[in-house]
Amino acid sequence: NDEKSLNFIEEIIEEDIRNGKHGGRVLTRFPPEPNGYLHIGHAKSIVLNFGLAQKYMGKTNLRFDDTNPVTEETEYVESIKNDIKWLGFQWAEELYTSDYFETLYGYAVKLIKKGLAYVDDSSSEEIAASKGTPTEPGKPTPYRDRSVEENLRLFAEMREGKYPDGAKVLRAKIDLANPNMHLRDPLLYRIKHAHHHRTGNKWCIYPMYDFAHGQSDSIENITHSICTLEFIPHRPLYDWLIEQLEIFPSKQYEFARLNLNYTVMSKRKLLQLVNEKYVDGWDDPRMPTISGLRRRGYTPASIRNFCERIGVAKRENIIDVGLLEFCIREDLNQTAWRRMAVLDPVKLVITNYPAGKTETLIGENNPEVEGGEGERSIPFSNELWIEREDFMENPPKKFFRLAPGLMVRLKHAYIIKCDEAVKDSEGNITEIRCTYLPESKSGEDTSGIKVKGTIHWVSVPHAKTAEVRLYDRLFNVENPAAEENFKLTINPESLQIIEKAYAEPDLLNAVPGKGYQFIRKGYFTLDDQQSTPDHLVFNRTVTLRDTWVK
Ligand code: ATP
Ligand code: MG
Ligand code: MG
Repeated sequence: NDEKSLNFIEEIIEEDIRNGKHGGRVLTRFPPEPNGYLHIGHAKSIVLNFGLAQKYMGKTNLRFDDTNPVTEETEYVESIKNDIKWLGFQWAEELYTSDYFETLYGYAVKLIKKGLAYVDDSSSEEIAASKGTPTEPGKPTPYRDRSVEENLRLFAEMREGKYPDGAKVLRAKIDLANPNMHLRDPLLYRIKHAHHHRTGNKWCIYPMYDFAHGQSDSIENITHSICTLEFIPHRPLYDWLIEQLEIFPSKQYEFARLNLNYTVMSKRKLLQLVNEKYVDGWDDPRMPTISGLRRRGYTPASIRNFCERIGVAKRENIIDVGLLEFCIREDLNQTAWRRMAVLDPVKLVITNYPAGKTETLIGENNPEVEGGEGERSIPFSNELWIEREDFMENPPKKFFRLAPGLMVRLKHAYIIKCDEAVKDSEGNITEIRCTYLPESKSGEDTSGIKVKGTIHWVSVPHAKTAEVRLYDRLFNVENPAAEENFKLTINPESLQIIEKAYAEPDLLNAVPGKGYQFIRKGYFTLDDQQSTPDHLVFNRTVTLRDTWVK
């Protein structure tokens, strides 16, 4: 789209292409650590990385950043691949940092041979102390001047498993007084006797992020390595390592991570919610995970759209979760099929309609598109469920629903007039009695009567019962992550379950992943985990009302 101004990363890429850098080739990567499910923040990174490659006829690698054996699992790998595909993207190659362990080991040996890395026996506290503070330079540990030979031998022994966890590390030898703390002899390798989900027990030393990420970029010939702002201070180390190792010069660029209010996004916190059963798994519809949003009824297009709308920023900001809701509402308004369901039912009897008679009415699926995407039949009878709130005994002025003496249209059906409400001994309304106008049928109305209100309904003998789950935001505060204990701010009303709602029978044909607008009630989707034909379960994706103010 030429009309749209370029974001700063696109500007860099276009400049690189103009200069013939890397022959105009664009290769990005998406590098998740398989230690949790992807969330909406990752979607931002996916849309950016894959989007840039698409725009500049390049490619994107999927690289699992699996250098921490303790937290990584194959289940996460599978979910990540599934979510990326669902979002509508296809990677060029599926790669694993763990496949580079041998190469990375060789790189470390190369640094040692150049006198640029050393084995340090100090404890983690001593190492931290050796780095000094932002205002004071660090001091060398007694191991900093080991000979190349000794370092080579010790590093080989680290690999062979001669030492326990924490006994030794490999550090780069750069500058203990550098204003950038990341350059004060950063750790490159640590000892960890742990089983790795892919390499098993082959390795007991693992590279640190800074010695894995840029090197993996380089091994893959990544041209533009895009990450979030926290990594700005890592960039000098990224460049230093590539330069000293004399390998392909990938470049790192940073953008502002996506922050959303009323939610948490760190995988560590999301994992706590799952493990401590505050939610029903990673894909709970209240979770900001891709799988949670999918189960909630978000479409891939709405998420891609959201990511594009918020753009690529260079400064931290917080996005209103209302914008995400706006995006799904906008999508579902165009795509959702309209259906009727009554969530808080009260019975309505049409006294002048023959008991036992069934009439088949017709409703189009989607009034937003030409042709309506077909239509469905809706059975009608003399007994209907309507929403309890659509009747009032003593209505205020301008109440355009049912009250004694008032008329409304039943959607896709007839105009009815309310005659009376029947109550039980405690005064609760048990039945609303109406008469209908036979000549007022939708589409062939000759009654000449205009009514202001239209209400939805479901025929009692034909209704399918359904469980309906209404979701609200999971947290009560804008920034739960800033709380001492974010779990104390969980919204106790984030899930409201309606055990017995009544749905029009065509909803038996509902399919997971498809959005339905329950007329006047919101957008819903079939729960892809727990719904069965005998026990329909619908999740509310979002309400109809738009609270997002631009
Ligand atoms: P978390 O803090 O949630 O655990 P992470 O950055 O540790 O996230 P990774 O699996 O390493 O998770 O992330 C993979 C990619 O997604 C990285 O390039 C990272 O920068 C990007 N990413 C993660 N969170 C966000 C976010 N909120 N906004 C944009 N990009 C993100
Ligand atoms: Mg990470
Ligand atoms: Mg993390």
